Amino acid sequence: MISPDPRLTQTVLDACESLACYSEVAGEITRTYLCPTTRQVHAHLTDWASRLGMSTRVDAVGNLRSRLESRVPDAPTLYIGSHLDTVPNAGRYDGILGVVMGYALVETLAGQALPYSIEVLGFSEEEGVRFGVSFIGSRALVGTAEELLSVQDKSGQSVQDAVVGYGLDPQELLQARASGQALGYLEFHIEQGPVLQNLGAGLGVVSAIVGQNRLTLEFTGQASHAGTTPMYLRRDALAAAARFMVAAEDLARATPGLVATVGMVEARPGAGNVIPGAASCSLDIRHEHDDVRATALQKLLEVAQHEAQARQVSFRVVPHMTEAAIPMNTQFKALLHQAAGELGLPHPELVSGAGHDAQIMAQQMPAAMLFVRSPNALSHHPDEMVNAEDVTAALRVGVRFLEQLAETVGA
Ligand SMILES: [Zn+2]
Repeated sequence: MISPDPRLTQTVLDACESLACYSEVAGEITRTYLCPTTRQVHAHLTDWASRLGMSTRVDAVGNLRSRLESRVPDAPTLYIGSHLDTVPNAGRYDGILGVVMGYALVETLAGQALPYSIEVLGFSEEEGVRFGVSFIGSRALVGTAEELLSVQDKSGQSVQDAVVGYGLDPQELLQARASGQALGYLEFHIEQGPVLQNLGAGLGVVSAIVGQNRLTLEFTGQASHAGTTPMYLRRDALAAAARFMVAAEDLARATPGLVATVGMVEARPGAGNVIPGAASCSLDIRHEHDDVRATALQKLLEVAQHEAQARQVSFRVVPHMTEAAIPMNTQFKALLHQAAGELGLPHPELVSGAGHDAQIMAQQMPAAMLFVRSPNALSHHPDEMVNAEDVTAALRVGVRFLEQLAETVGA
């Protein structure tokens, strides 16, 4: 069993710290798709990769890709990665940690004769900040990025303009695809939530990336005088919406794993002495099993319909997004559990409530994620943290995973 050098944890933390300096906004960590400081991030990691004997290229959408070639002819490729872009005023670890972990694992295993090549992926875009679409980077690997080239940002610049402006060639999109035999994709990522902290575990194996619906519910009644209209003659749109909101919270609390959120609510005309004639609210509902989510959504829409009818309020739904859940690969999950188990580390399984590049890569190859505890559950925030001991544990599990994978490939 190979153990990572104890100093490697500090290397990982230092790399995250250094990369945080490359921001497009002074005094904060902000790196949107193909912003100029992306070049410095690439240069920093390319330098590390070359010291590890890896060859590095930047593909047509700006993904940084460093390969450690196996000495075995026609060996399959294991991809390890995450994203290099950030939300505005981000923390130091969301995305970056997963890329840095890839290089750190190669640093540990570079001298070994592996039966597979390793490609470390630093995706150029995952957060969807600049163009409002996510996963431009990973979608290029699975061949679904072309339709994104015409998407425009607020200034009217398209993804294609950004690509060309950065000096890349959109004609080379085909070469960005993951070609050859892929063994799978492994992503390390901070949890960005409170579950592992609550369980007292440093690491967690992701079972699935949740499926979700996002929609707006619109209730239309009749605005009228708050003093002169008796309760039995009202058509209060907000009262119907309020009943729906309470039902959403109740149902989610009563359904294991379900999360339902009403994050926006609007009442019109919006005066203290006027009965709301119109009300709208958002619904964001997520679960790791699509059937559970679909049944819950159906129930909630029935509640909304019922509460609207009871007040002679009309009701309609405006859907914005429906995404199916993406289960992680069973064999890769088992290897992660086995690795953590052998090392005596707790390895609970948990669902990812947020989207990740792994859900895109899973369309084409076995994909798995290992979550690293988020102290204080803080993420998308400059105070985002990781514990050094959890990074050490992730490195150890990662190395063991790679060793075990080598055994399965060699067998
Ligand atoms: Zn992320």
